[in-house]
Formats: sequence, structure tokens, C-alpha cells
Amino acid sequence: MNQLGLHAAVWVGDWSADSARKAIESTARAGYDLIEIPIPDPAAIDTARTARLLADNGLAAGCSLGLRWDADISSTDPDIVRGGRQLLASALDTTVRLGGDYLGGVLFSTLGKYPAPLTELGRANVVRELAGLAGDAADAGVTIGLEVVNRYESNVLNTAEQALELIADIGADNVVVHLDSYHMNIEEADFATPVASCGDRLGYVHIGESHRGYLGTGTIDFGQLFGALAAQGYGGPITFESFSSAVVHPELSNNLAVWRNLWEDSADLAAHAKAFLDRQLAAG
Ligand code: MN
Repeated sequence: MNQLGLHAAVWVGDWSADSARKAIESTARAGYDLIEIPIPDPAAIDTARTARLLADNGLAAGCSLGLRWDADISSTDPDIVRGGRQLLASALDTTVRLGGDYLGGVLFSTLGKYPAPLTELGRANVVRELAGLAGDAADAGVTIGLEVVNRYESNVLNTAEQALELIADIGADNVVVHLDSYHMNIEEADFATPVASCGDRLGYVHIGESHRGYLGTGTIDFGQLFGALAAQGYGGPITFESFSSAVVHPELSNNLAVWRNLWEDSADLAAHAKAFLDRQLAAG
């Protein structure tokens, strides 16, 4: 059975003590199995307190982040690559301390619009650095997920095929493809082919609407996507992700171009998404 997850940005825009409690308790109350915790600044997370809250509420956790312009392993500048390596090492450490077994997201580049295509040297840096990260993660029992995002959020991975090529070059068993319906809607030909192409390499799925608001109110063919996941016997996490200016982390929401409110009521959104996901899984 798939774990159903909820991204913490549905509830909070930071990870202060109050925010962590609110996000974890609210996610458990809404009936989810897992919370995805964004860790843009991994060292700032109070891991002991968060781990305790997770245990008290019976929730599993995954962690996610995107790299930064000054800490980017796809750069050709050795100092910036080193910054990216340190950020990823810190993210892995935080994931382990939280008791999580999944670290995903845009781990291969800055989360942002690049002014030019990825260079050959930049790609070689990505392969080398992710191979190193995957080795450390394997020792800690953590799976590394490479989230395929649209062209405005990275120039490294925009399609599942590109992710599979990169993973083949990295050559580590604990690196998986992380697909997101919002990004697939922009870059892929349909919602079934990428799922089939990934096969057992698909390890994590984000569910987001075409406008990142309420599920079922946009243009995404969720029937096709969930049908493909079922046909393949996908058993990994399925996490709902949505962003509104009602809940704002200034850096993340700006990088994601959240310029308008798609919802105001976090609890209503979370309950609606849970019911929607349950229906899709039952139908798939
Ligand atoms: Mn996503």
C-alpha cells in the first residue's frame, strides 16, 4: 500500500517550534501517513524535537530541498560546487536525525530559472557529487529522489527520460526518480508513458494540480496517472503538494513563483486532497 503524504507548506511557511507542531499534528489529524518537510536550511531544523513530534503523532517523514545559486553542484565554479556538496551533506544529516529514509527534490541544481542550458562540465559535476551523496545515503539507509521539474525551475532534469539517464550514469541502487504531476503536465507528452518508462526506478510521486491548487479543479488527467501507477504496481509514497500565498516561506514561494492565492483554508485543502487521493487509488 502506498503511504499518503502531505507537503508541510500546506500548513506552515517555516519550521519554528510552533510551526513544526502545527504541521505535524495537522497532517496526522487529516489522516495522512507521511509529512514532507522542506529543509532549505537543514542545519536550522531542531531535529530532536521534530523526531519526537513525528513519533508522538505516528507520522513518517521525508525531506526535500532545492539547491541555491551559491550552492549548486551543476555549476562549473568549484567553490559553488563545494557549497552544493556541503548543503547536500547537511540535508542528509538532518534527514537521518529526523528518522527519515527519503531525501528528495531538486538536489542536482538551483531551484530557479537558468539563463542557459546545462554544460557538459556541470553535468559531470552533478554525476560525481550525487554518486558521493548516494554512497553516504546508502550507509544511512536513505533513498535519494531526483525530482523532475519544469524548465523554469531547473535546466538539469525536465523529463523522466533525462532522470533515468542521469541515474544510470550515477550508478547507485538507492537513487530513484521522483515524478510530479504539476511538472509532468508542462514537460511530458502524457502522464502514463513516464511512469512506465521509470518502472521500478520510480520511488516517489508528487501530486499537484496544473495551477497547484485544489485537486480536480485544473487540467491534469489524474485518471491516466493513477491508472499508470496501478498498472505498474507502484507501492511508494504519494504526496500532495500545494502552495498558496496564504502560507508563505518567502524564499521557497518566490522560487516557485507563487504570486496569488489558490486557497486560504489549509485544513479544508488537506481534507479535500486526502479524499481525492483515496478515490483515485480506489479507482486505479
Ligand atoms: Mn514537487
